[in-house]
Amino acid sequence: MFIWFMIFFYIVMPSSWHLTVFAGDDASVINIKIMQTTDMHGNILDYKYQSAEKTVDFGLVRTASLIKKIREEYENTLLFDTGDILEGNALGEYAYRSRFFNLGRVHPVIKAMNYLNYDGATVGNHEFNYGLNFLMQSLQGAAFPFVNANIYIDDHNTNPIDDINLLPPYIIQDKEWTDESGVKQKLKIGIIGFVTPIVAEWDKEYFRDKLIVKNISETARHYVPLMKEEGADIIVALAHVGMDADKGLQEKEGNSVSDLSQVSGIDAILYGHTHSVYPSRPGLNLVNTSRPAIVQAGYWGNHLGIIDLKLVNKNGKWKVEKSTSSIQTIYRTIKNKKIPVTGRDTELEKLMMKDHLNVKKFSEIK
Ligand SMILES: [Zn+2]
Repeated sequence: MFIWFMIFFYIVMPSSWHLTVFAGDDASVINIKIMQTTDMHGNILDYKYQSAEKTVDFGLVRTASLIKKIREEYENTLLFDTGDILEGNALGEYAYRSRFFNLGRVHPVIKAMNYLNYDGATVGNHEFNYGLNFLMQSLQGAAFPFVNANIYIDDHNTNPIDDINLLPPYIIQDKEWTDESGVKQKLKIGIIGFVTPIVAEWDKEYFRDKLIVKNISETARHYVPLMKEEGADIIVALAHVGMDADKGLQEKEGNSVSDLSQVSGIDAILYGHTHSVYPSRPGLNLVNTSRPAIVQAGYWGNHLGIIDLKLVNKNGKWKVEKSTSSIQTIYRTIKNKKIPVTGRDTELEKLMMKDHLNVKKFSEIK
């Protein structure tokens, strides 16, 4: 009986019906939301240590509320940071000078990021301000991976084959996400990181004869095909570099976000370093066509960067069909007054309170 039904089905029904009924993977659509913070510079709390007052202008405690809201509304999300987390305020200074690693503690910024369940991060140039030992000790406390593909240990020879990366150049994460028809799908997310080579000049004392920084686009052209070979369905680049190359850089070509966006195979670029926002204002949805989606989330947690990817499975392969970049702000300026548009994550605030009080005490002694 069943056989007759099948014969009838294939001979009599129009072929488009076959496709609809037996579509399988070919018709799968997945929407994912990638979130970004950048250039935190120690500002977990919404607090100005210099003037000892609360603020609505910045603080990861406020961005955290935006992150949580998105996670409540959307199932398929990722969260990344693009560097400059450790240095820049009294909390960073306290963490460095108080030598609290001796007590086996986790760096307070990393602790906050662990709490928010980041999927990955990359290092910024300011991560090197306190030296390599402090940086590596700080990263050890992270429950999420840090990636960077263009910093290498200087082995004092010119053979690129034996160069060893300081950090894992990339990782490939397995995700099980729900598609638009409610079916679970397995995806591999490739995450790669880069830093502006100017860090080798700005933090000379920690780089000279110890570390080398290679060209960003050349490095990407080397690693992206390897990531594809390893089965990455989409590739997200975390870049601590400006849209344009740094002014003082000798080798400008290849060392900017615009250059990186020309490297084929990258689907999304999250970047930081220049402390501005991209797209240029909240509410603007930039639909990307030929290039990868690009976003920059300001600084100190004052914005959340968002890239929406619509992935379609064609012939067993996931492809980005549409991508949109946008940013969300934590405050709006109305008549020269900053009005918060989000509350603070009180759980995160509580988690930071002891460190916060120690910082205040520490700053007074200093
Ligand atoms: Zn910065």
